[in-house]
Amino acid sequence: MNKQKKIFSMLVIIAVVGLGISLSGCVEEIENKIIVGTSADFPPFEYVEDGTIVGFDIEMVTMILEDLNYTVEVQDIAFEGLIGALNSDKIDVIAAGMSIDPEREVDFTIPYYEADLSVLVLTESNYTINETNHLEVLANLTVGAQTGTTGADWVYETLINITNATMQEDQLKRYTLYTLALLDLTNKNLDAIVIDKPVAEAFAEDVDAEIAYTIDSDEEYGLAVKKGNSDLLAELNQGLTKLIGTEEWTNLIKKYFE
Ligand code: GLN
Repeated sequence: MNKQKKIFSMLVIIAVVGLGISLSGCVEEIENKIIVGTSADFPPFEYVEDGTIVGFDIEMVTMILEDLNYTVEVQDIAFEGLIGALNSDKIDVIAAGMSIDPEREVDFTIPYYEADLSVLVLTESNYTINETNHLEVLANLTVGAQTGTTGADWVYETLINITNATMQEDQLKRYTLYTLALLDLTNKNLDAIVIDKPVAEAFAEDVDAEIAYTIDSDEEYGLAVKKGNSDLLAELNQGLTKLIGTEEWTNLIKKYFE
């Protein structure tokens, strides 16, 4: 190649690369991407199937956001890290079966699902747990829950952080993932798991476990955005209002809960 040709081809390369960079910049702007954070250990709301994060929450939030012309990326983050990820702008929305709780430093949408907590035990364990004896029985067990959840909170506040508690701190085992708690239950390192009832029901289909008791915690799940992100909050609320009660909604419930 002579010198002139060389310079010419270099200029072509620079032009093509430059065009590529400016185009990709445009694409990103047009894309309007929303990053959804979830903790994919919580079937049927969010779980991993064939390497992909799927579930009721994921499908629902994707439907709503795509309807608003956003593209959606889902990131798997342990439940205890979700609020921090939201507040440091690593994610835009939490969709994680998260119970609406004013103490959580986020803004919640309107509720989209109601659930109680439950006590999941191995079927062979044969505990009799009821309204009258549940506190006494649980206080004698080793109980697992995911860190940062209402389940872990309930055990701590109801059985440990009380005067004359008989349950010791180390009887509550906190796990980064509910699936790890389930593994410890099946390995008999735990006597019980305190976990949202619909998830306990899903787990009970996979392993030899059953719900021994339902705790009337009356929780409502909401999607969450960073405090003050009122535009996205309004869009999500609008989307939820539009979706809840439709045939699409009924089909979604059927797909994941029946
Ligand atoms: N609903 C419970 C909570 O908000 C548990 C959620 C979860 O583990 N994904 O704390």
